[in-house]
Amino acid sequence: MQPKYSLIIPVYNEEATLPELFYRVSTVMDRMDGPVELILVNDGSCDRSLAIMRSLHDKDARVCYLSFARNFGHQIAVTAGLNFARGQAVVILDADLQDPPELIPDMVERWQQGYEVVYAQRTQRHREGWFKRLTAYVFYRLLKQLADVDIPTDTGDFCLMDRRVVEILNTMPERNRYLRGLRSWIGFRQTAILFEREPRFAGEVKYTFRKSFGLAVNGLVSFSKVPLRLSTYLGLFAAAIAVLMAILILYWRIFYLTSPLTGYAAIGVAIFFLGAVQLFSIGILGEYIGRIYEEVKNRPLYTLSEIAGFAERRELERQSADCGVGFEVSAQPNSAPSNEGRRQEGIGGRW
Ligand code: UDP
Ligand code: MG
Repeated sequence: MQPKYSLIIPVYNEEATLPELFYRVSTVMDRMDGPVELILVNDGSCDRSLAIMRSLHDKDARVCYLSFARNFGHQIAVTAGLNFARGQAVVILDADLQDPPELIPDMVERWQQGYEVVYAQRTQRHREGWFKRLTAYVFYRLLKQLADVDIPTDTGDFCLMDRRVVEILNTMPERNRYLRGLRSWIGFRQTAILFEREPRFAGEVKYTFRKSFGLAVNGLVSFSKVPLRLSTYLGLFAAAIAVLMAILILYWRIFYLTSPLTGYAAIGVAIFFLGAVQLFSIGILGEYIGRIYEEVKNRPLYTLSEIAGFAERRELERQSADCGVGFEVSAQPNSAPSNEGRRQEGIGGRW
């Protein structure tokens, strides 16, 4: 049966939250006005998350899952879920219950009123560290100033999207995916619902500082060319300082015969300043060129080692052909004799 709603949940080492998550999500699913599929995407977890997903799938036919062959990151996990989702409305939420599933009916209501995208906007973050709150606050405002499209502040990936939006997202081939930006870029009628972000239900934060920083840089670089221009401005600024220093030196030479700017210290400062400007500019260029390189390589976005719950193989093939995003299955046909029926769906080379 074609589901009306798809819920996508990326999971990375969330064994502590999965049972409670399933309990809360399935309560919401029971009350929805049409068939729902729950797509859990295992992003290369090394704890018992996959085993829990298997047992949830055995227990409840609405649960489907995809399992990556390694950790590819949150944005790619959500992308995989979007590639496989079949619902008319698709909801993305985190596994740690920071995005309350109880908000989904409100989102659906807005969708039924005619909005193609309903995103959740945080009014408050409870018990998250000051550093995270401060950096997030600064980043979202910086992004709003710099980005070419209007990306609303304090929104994450928690949202509902209409089938039409999902289809467009699935045809976007880019590797460095900043989904909330892409979502804004697509347009259509979008609206926000406000919520207070609860602390994580259990377990450690999976978005390490490095991953969050990477996501932030991705957002800026993917949606703004201002950083490139920044190096031009810095170059101009350095040139202006150089001219000023030259005028000062001439002035002192002519009127005082000595100049306080001729010492080693002054020369040293100037050299370091110029060096910094140049390295900084090369770094910015590198960010853009590195992304071009990533795109040109054109590798598949992810590799799957196991999938279950997606009714027909043919349906999967149709979707993978439609979405234009390559993915590869790395498991060998006989690698999992104990779970054949379930696993064989996911086996068979490149689709
Ligand atoms: N996550 C993922 N892959 C990763 C890191 C995180 O799939 O490499 C998932 C994680 O399981 C959770 C969501 O992304 O469902 C958000 O992660 P987290 O709660 O650690 O981040 P934050 O709440 O700080 O944004
Ligand atoms: Mg979280």
